[in-house]
Amino acid sequence: MAEVLFLGGFGRSGTTLVERLLGELPGMCALGEVVHLWQRDVRDDERCGCGDRFSGCDFWRRVGDLAFNGWSNVDVDRVHALRDTVERTRHIPRLASAATASDEVREYASYYARVYTAAAEVSGARVVIDSSKHSALAHVLRWADDIDLRVVHVVRDARGVAYSWTKTVARPETDGLDQMTRYSPGRSALLWNAHNAAFGLLARRGVPVRRIRYEEFLADPRAGLEGLAEFAGAPPRPEDLDFLRNGHADLRAGHSAAGNPMRFTVGRLPLRRDDAWVSALPLSQRRLVGAVCGPLLRAYGYPISIASEA
Ligand SMILES: [Zn+2]
Repeated sequence: MAEVLFLGGFGRSGTTLVERLLGELPGMCALGEVVHLWQRDVRDDERCGCGDRFSGCDFWRRVGDLAFNGWSNVDVDRVHALRDTVERTRHIPRLASAATASDEVREYASYYARVYTAAAEVSGARVVIDSSKHSALAHVLRWADDIDLRVVHVVRDARGVAYSWTKTVARPETDGLDQMTRYSPGRSALLWNAHNAAFGLLARRGVPVRRIRYEEFLADPRAGLEGLAEFAGAPPRPEDLDFLRNGHADLRAGHSAAGNPMRFTVGRLPLRRDDAWVSALPLSQRRLVGAVCGPLLRAYGYPISIASEA
């Protein structure tokens, strides 16, 4: 049975950073955002985290051979149709309340389970990490056969998240042709609420969920990583964390299939909180996001009023 650590949360909350650090630990294999594998890799042949095109990456070729007898046997249109049927945020209440799963949910989950199982075998890792983030996918995976699912719910201050979504970021895997999505602060505040609440619901359905705060994790990455690795069932030895230095991490190349541009970073990765929003997000927008997200921000232990507003 493949042990799967699913990194969830609303985008721009730091899941890629957490994944990159976890992926350095022995017994862990970081796969990136598997939710995008079907379109961006199997179909569009974008770049793997190792720098190769997906079709040229030996790791993913072996995973595809083992899981599907070759990626050419995967019906990407079928995966997309299933996703549209079952894996939308509006489906979460139904997914969370159902006592049994529909055939579509089980079939969609099986595509992921086959990837995880094959990746565990090819890598020899005890735990595979999927940083897909989407709460609806986590609810679907609850029904996957043959996987041991544990979920890390990464939360970050909604105002920092909102600021990040206003910025323009290029997607290097498309050689500068495409940019990452942008949201207005009002829109991202609503999405922040919905996605984070969905992980609370997942925990109440009996799935092991460990919530971490991005800001707290970066204040002490060593303690944070130790805690997550223990939660995943693979506690590290002290020397396994030697890649964590004072203020940065030394990363090797990985095989992340899709996600934030940080997945390409090799070598020095600064471990610094990005607090640019405190001065850069206009006061009116900061208050809007603070009001919309207030109940959950408080529940997660974030202060609502910022010192500079006083
Ligand atoms: Zn690769």
